[in-house]
Amino acid sequence: MPKPYDPTNVFARILRGEIPNKTVLETAHTLAFHDISAQAPVHVLIIPKGAYIDFADFAAHASANELVDFHRAAATVCEILGLTGPEGYRAITNAGLHGMQEVPHYHLHILGGRVLGRLVERP
Ligand code: AMP
Repeated sequence: MPKPYDPTNVFARILRGEIPNKTVLETAHTLAFHDISAQAPVHVLIIPKGAYIDFADFAAHASANELVDFHRAAATVCEILGLTGPEGYRAITNAGLHGMQEVPHYHLHILGGRVLGRLVERP
């Protein structure tokens, strides 16, 4: 049985305007803002405005408009942040215990501005 969405999570509170954020882009269905604890010179989070827990939940249940809006917004954020050159960037999402997802509202991390190393440490 999957867990229900927790409306008290920090990103839900940001979406309700209860917590401030440093917005990069807002669209009909998507919000992008700077991570509060940046792990790279550029570290932005892209979140859907809808109540989705993780990637699988978003992919399975979001409308076509939400899915398109989210991915186009993420690409626009990369352009706004100057990440579309040859240096590139990384887009990642965490889920569950092994992925060590901390905030249970789906989000894509966009990281850039330095060489980011391997995706994961080898054991
Ligand atoms: P994850 O571990 O993938 O769930 O990532 C959660 C991210 O949310 C972390 O990188 C945190 O630094 C970030 N974060 C937590 N609270 C806030 C906040 N109020 N504003 C911006 N980013 C936040």
